[in-house]
Amino acid sequence: MTPVPVPADEPPKKRSAADFIFGKVIGEGSFSTVYLAKDIHTNKEFAIKVLEKLHIKKERKLAYVTREKEVLLRLASWNELFVKLYCTFQDVDRLYFVLTYAKNGDLLTHIKHLSLECVRFYAAEIIMALERLNIKKIIHRDLKPENILLDENWHVLLTDFGSAKIVKDEIEQEECGENSKRRNSFVGTAQYVTPEVLTDGNVSFASDLWALGCVIYQMVCGTAPFQAGSEYLIFKKILDLEYSFPEDFDSRARNLVEQLLVINPHERLGSCDVKPYTSIREHQFFSKINWHNLGKPPKIC
Ligand code: ATP
Repeated sequence: MTPVPVPADEPPKKRSAADFIFGKVIGEGSFSTVYLAKDIHTNKEFAIKVLEKLHIKKERKLAYVTREKEVLLRLASWNELFVKLYCTFQDVDRLYFVLTYAKNGDLLTHIKHLSLECVRFYAAEIIMALERLNIKKIIHRDLKPENILLDENWHVLLTDFGSAKIVKDEIEQEECGENSKRRNSFVGTAQYVTPEVLTDGNVSFASDLWALGCVIYQMVCGTAPFQAGSEYLIFKKILDLEYSFPEDFDSRARNLVEQLLVINPHERLGSCDVKPYTSIREHQFFSKINWHNLGKPPKIC
């Protein structure tokens, strides 16, 4: 059946859970369950993130959820590189986020099967996403392969903005209770956490560049650079910059990672660029990349 066209000046109708058929669970986060769902009016597939209000309240994560929505709305004007938030609604017990369905899952699932050509392509798309975040004054703070999703055409869709920081709101954030504690606390995932979070807590755009270095390392050799048996030992290795490269690690990729995994955030490649992240774009590792048109993603083996 052809859907009835909605006149351009008519605001979209408020959606509810009844407008969707909920299918399989496609992911579980600490505070959410993500379902594949179909819009009954258009047949279009979405990923719907469902959050239990009681759980959010109990874990005092309201600020986290609000932040995620705020950031996704800020990014909604871009139809690529980020998961798009189409709408939100709620019922008595739950909050619902209707998001782009990333059909090919997350980068972590595929990370052990990437050719160097793939690494270059995906690193370039992630950098373009970070450039856009920079324009919108957003620091992701939890960039990792699980949060880099892949759409039906294998392009990157960055997600999970619950830990993000909107730079312009810094003063407001520090004033409100729940967030004020976050400045010096560990936000993110142990293996990708930045040294500055572990020391003075001063997060900046360069923090995402450290995580980018970790992700590129992992895309090249399949494992994260800083690994140990406990969070404490991982943190120690990060602070000591204790990691090594396998012998067959591509030399240009190695040089790039070495310039991103730098303890001093101001010395990380790209951190002082007037136009972010020109110096990363110009790195030799990307000499084959046409930044005006990245083209189609190379096939993942
Ligand atoms: P975290 O524990 O990292 O805070 P969270 O509660 O914020 O998690 P998400 O990371 O957003 O939840 O989602 C959990 C999982 O659901 C993801 O790892 C991913 O596998 C899947 N997922 C989330 N969003 C989508 C999407 N738009 N398309 C496909 N799968 C998704």
